[in-house]
Amino acid sequence: MVTAKRWAGGCLCGSCRYEFEGEPPHSGYCHCNMCKRSTGGGFAVLVQAPRASLTWINGAPAVFRSSPIATRGFCRECGSPLFLQYDGDDLVRLTAGSLDQPERIRPASHYGIESRLAWADIGPGLPEEETKERL
Ligand SMILES: [Zn+2]
Ligand SMILES: [Zn+2]
Repeated sequence: MVTAKRWAGGCLCGSCRYEFEGEPPHSGYCHCNMCKRSTGGGFAVLVQAPRASLTWINGAPAVFRSSPIATRGFCRECGSPLFLQYDGDDLVRLTAGSLDQPERIRPASHYGIESRLAWADIGPGLPEEETKERL
């Protein structure tokens, strides 16, 4: 019998906590400029999770509409970026750093490489893709 894998995470102050089950379908680096702004880092690491399996434990985070096709969630208390959600997508992309155990995932691709910083020389040899739509 296979036991579903459980994952948990949350924001810096602890007021936003989440859980989900199952293996994340994909984890990847995103180098787009919106992820830079949103995370305050040189790139984002995003972990896909089935939206239906994601549960917010202490209430949902604040949501900002970051583009015509996507929203981003963050803690209204401490500002930690928590997710990117494309409209109508049954996957949610969680920020890897918000996971309690980010060492369990491994980024497997680069997205938004047209905006990749020269010093963001991580993850060599992984598939690369340019931004198709504005995130
Ligand atoms: Zn917080
Ligand atoms: Zn991005």
